[in-house]
Amino acid sequence: MRVWETDKRMEYQLVKSDRKTMAIQVGIDGTVTVRVPKRCSKKLIEDFVQEHRTWICKKQEELGRRAREREKRREGMPEWSQEDYQQHRTAAGRVLRERAEYFARQMGGSFERISIRDQKTRWGSCSTRGNLNFNWRLILAPLEILDYVVVHELAHRKEMNHSERFWRLVAQVLPDYQERKQWLKENGDLLMSGVVFRGSYFSQGGVPKDTLWKKGSPDLGFRIQKL
Ligand SMILES: [Zn+2]
Repeated sequence: MRVWETDKRMEYQLVKSDRKTMAIQVGIDGTVTVRVPKRCSKKLIEDFVQEHRTWICKKQEELGRRAREREKRREGMPEWSQEDYQQHRTAAGRVLRERAEYFARQMGGSFERISIRDQKTRWGSCSTRGNLNFNWRLILAPLEILDYVVVHELAHRKEMNHSERFWRLVAQVLPDYQERKQWLKENGDLLMSGVVFRGSYFSQGGVPKDTLWKKGSPDLGFRIQKL
């Protein structure tokens, strides 16, 4: 059962279910959800919310601050024209295929089709049928990062999980994969916004000038494998 309650200026969603404890959750948008056992008195719930009031406010402030920071980072981000986008997406298909074929040979594996996607949350995926999907924005990342995603997905051809065995397969080809993975974690949102990084396939030329990310030139010291 879900109802909205207002407790001294605080609005929250009340969820009653088969559970033994009470819990409070603050969503990314700042909304509060209170989860309680089915037979929980109103008084008990109100006391519980009251007790955690400071924590809730702090959490909401923190989330608000992070949302504003994200917004700020997004400002001044490049706008991709349809033409530039198409050009890069096509190139992404070509480069990703080249790299995937190269690494598949090296790893003694294979794949079926390669599709280039325009997803906001994923860099790549591998289907059980052996089709590889990649985000076109990888063409904007340093080539070492693109390689990491390619090797990651190819390793899934042998291990459909993130087990130790899986990571060993990745490490066999890219011993420094952890740094690449970390780079993607730290810079992934900029990359998703369409920023072109130095060291990317396109940073040498052919890129709309104002899309080149000037800060944090990634002289990463990674190994680029020559095809
Ligand atoms: Zn994976």
